[in-house]
Amino acid sequence: MSTKGTVQKMIKGLYVHIPFCNSICGYCDFARCRYSSSLADKYLMHLEKELSEIKQDSFYTVYIGGGTPTSLNEKQLERLLEMLSRFKAEKEYTIEINPESFNREKALLIKKYGVNRVSIGIQSFNESLLAHMGRKHNSKDVDNTFRYLDEAGIKNRSIDLIFGFQTQSLANVITDLQKAVRLNVTHISIYDLEIYPNTIFGIKRYEKLDDETCFIMYQSIVEYLNLHGYRQYETSNFAFGRYQSQHNRLYWKYEDYKGVGLSASSKIRNIRTDNTKNFVDYLNDRYVAKTIRLSDEELIFEAIMMNLRMNEGIDIKEFDKRFNCNLLEKHHLAIEKNIAKGLLEVKSGFLKTTNKGIFVLNDILVDFMN
Ligand code: SF4
Repeated sequence: MSTKGTVQKMIKGLYVHIPFCNSICGYCDFARCRYSSSLADKYLMHLEKELSEIKQDSFYTVYIGGGTPTSLNEKQLERLLEMLSRFKAEKEYTIEINPESFNREKALLIKKYGVNRVSIGIQSFNESLLAHMGRKHNSKDVDNTFRYLDEAGIKNRSIDLIFGFQTQSLANVITDLQKAVRLNVTHISIYDLEIYPNTIFGIKRYEKLDDETCFIMYQSIVEYLNLHGYRQYETSNFAFGRYQSQHNRLYWKYEDYKGVGLSASSKIRNIRTDNTKNFVDYLNDRYVAKTIRLSDEELIFEAIMMNLRMNEGIDIKEFDKRFNCNLLEKHHLAIEKNIAKGLLEVKSGFLKTTNKGIFVLNDILVDFMN
């Protein structure tokens, strides 16, 4: 996978979904299933077919996510990386890895095929909380993961963490952050737990911590990470120095991307395509479940929704030019109302959320729907 060349891309990002996991976490709402070697072989065969339909051979970013891509065995992982090797990733090539299914061979393989960034599913460093979540790794697996990445020379490492579990105190969250900072990771994503009805937690009617406690935790997280050099650039994302996720920035900047695999979505100009979440359909090459043509109004709303997730907010001039509109005029009621509430601000040509607003973005967006 080359990272050279600067041709203007029609589609900027390529996302590849691997739906297998070694175990299913209580809160998980993604398209995933338990790993089975024979099913994974079949899946890769159909994934290859879907990939063969892509005409463009170079993207700014390529991202392999899931599920757990490293639940594939070494042979399957190499097959996946080999089939993706015809695409160039000019800026960033990321794979999601989980400590319980990562080893030295897999680290060397991803390095060999040009992966230059990993996103590690840690969620917490606290083993009893990990068990509570239904995750299978322990601190030894985490230590080994970092050792294998060191040996392979992969230095751009992001980790995922979660907060909002009933058994979690603010001190627990800060301990997780301290460990993350000590590991010198380049990027931290920290998510506020959400309980979806169709998940294990949803079915058990698990209750997360209340909103007020979560908001206090969130403020402490932002403060702690800023203090340690991790600048918040999106609702749940913090980067050390220049290490923002280039792939996720494409989503938030509302650029075009192609998604491949079970449940993956694409947005290309005004067309959104959602792949099927049904395994049987996917294995019969019926990849696409839904195609929607977005109206100009829908494009504008989605762009506002995605752009406002970033701390930098919306570049008003650029936005007006792109969508041939006057944003401040078009949405003056929503903007004025939320500025008055201290949730939005207009500063140096950008419309953005305040520190308070970023945590209640969904409430703000309701006003933009009217
Ligand atoms: S490892 Fe990730 S994708 Fe798999 S079940 Fe857990 S949260 Fe879901």
